[in-house]
Amino acid sequence: MSDCLFCKFVSGELKTEIVYSDDDMIIIKDINPMAKNHFLAIPKQHYKLLSEATADQMLALSRMLKKISSLSGLLGLESGYRLVINQGDDAGQSVFHLHIHILSGQKMGWQPA
Ligand code: AMP
Ligand code: ZN
Repeated sequence: MSDCLFCKFVSGELKTEIVYSDDDMIIIKDINPMAKNHFLAIPKQHYKLLSEATADQMLALSRMLKKISSLSGLLGLESGYRLVINQGDDAGQSVFHLHIHILSGQKMGWQPA
């Protein structure tokens, strides 16, 4: 996707600090951290929403989840972490290239609606 920020990070057209990369994804630091440690796991393939993922993309996503859980030291996940996918307007999605937020490093609240 030519006009997608995260595709530009994946292709290298835009520079960012990539903390981890493999065939499925890159992991970068979120520019506006919502926790002590806040990373974004970005699939190398562009799709907007979880609901649009193909079977192969879902497989890649499950490999990503497994890999993230193994990067405990690199990502500071030792005492627990939260994974978030914001899907669509009500969830506040702002970049329409699916990504997983990885949040850790402090007790995080979980408020009743
Ligand atoms: P979402 O709201 O779920 O679509 O998340 C998009 C995330 O991308 C937000 O948490 C932003 O802070 C983050 N973000 C936006 N621009 C950049 C950037 N240039 N580098 C790193 N993270 C970014
Ligand atoms: Zn993209």
